[in-house]
Amino acid sequence: MSGLILVSGGAGYIGSHTVLALRERGRDVLVLDDLSEGHEAALLGAELARGSMLDRDFVRSVFEEREIAAVFHFAARCYVGESVEDPGLYYRHNVLGTLNLLDAMAATGVKRFVLSSTCATYGEPERIPITEDLPQNPINPYGVTKLVDEWMLRDFHTAHGIESVALRYFNAAGADAEGRIGEDHEPETHLIPIVLQVALGQRDKLTVFGDDYETPDGTCIRDYVHVTDLAEAHVLALEAMEKTPGSVGIQAFNLGNEAGTSVLEVIETARQVTGHPIPYTLGARRPGDPPRLVGSSARIREALGWTPKFGDIKTIVETAWKWHQARPKGYDDRGGR
Ligand code: UDP
Repeated sequence: MSGLILVSGGAGYIGSHTVLALRERGRDVLVLDDLSEGHEAALLGAELARGSMLDRDFVRSVFEEREIAAVFHFAARCYVGESVEDPGLYYRHNVLGTLNLLDAMAATGVKRFVLSSTCATYGEPERIPITEDLPQNPINPYGVTKLVDEWMLRDFHTAHGIESVALRYFNAAGADAEGRIGEDHEPETHLIPIVLQVALGQRDKLTVFGDDYETPDGTCIRDYVHVTDLAEAHVLALEAMEKTPGSVGIQAFNLGNEAGTSVLEVIETARQVTGHPIPYTLGARRPGDPPRLVGSSARIREALGWTPKFGDIKTIVETAWKWHQARPKGYDDRGGR
């Protein structure tokens, strides 16, 4: 198959792993990223159009200058806590940014779109594991903005025939198994990298946000899914759209491992993997955190044949640890930005 794949946010964590997966299949990729959070080094030489998703004219010009076959949209803000404190930031980046892309696609006739969506669109689900047919009632602005994105996809399909797949990630974690790229956020807020920063001696300890949830050990349960498995799902979604144009329409799939791991279990796993005691203190609940998010990925396994290769939490932490040990300062490019 040919055609240029535009990857917004391709210098970010999940985006860069997907760019790598596409290029390993010989696909042509153009990354659209402003490098506000992403890293040029994470592109491993992939072509970059540097600019902001919020710059409507810039986005439009990229579509006019290049013949784009499909769009993978990763560029977004993705922190629950931050979204509660600064919802405007989330509506601008996650709603307007997506709209600018969809408008440019409609104007230039690009018909294939894969959205980074999230389990945060479900809010506090009435059943576990979460299936795609459950109501989406997000409890934080991050989840709301991604749900709005999903709604926009419906309308752009109806009006402009843009086919799309929304991939509702559970908790992305881990790093490329060969250690070429990995997770590097500044500041870091995600649990697994923070735990590993403690193991590296970069932090004395971490704070566990709440131990009074209605879960077996009182801490929040999440479904951690390996970033390379997420990347693979994007490629499968694209291939499905290419195989029989018009057959996908608009679809949404969960991407999780159907396994719940509590905050304390993540810490214990990291102790085993790193051999470090990983001290922690107990703190208050973090606003916007649902107690338990575990997803059923039966739908994508069946529809697209998605089979996670790095499904268990120990492997996920091991690959992350390999990356953090090899690159304790991450991409180490902050001085240059
Ligand atoms: N968490 C924690 N301490 C930290 C960071 C995260 O206890 O320093 C908890 C957080 O409250 C949540 C879980 O770890 O229950 C996963 O959080 P993360 O930010 O990694 O992902 P999220 O579920 O928010 O997407």
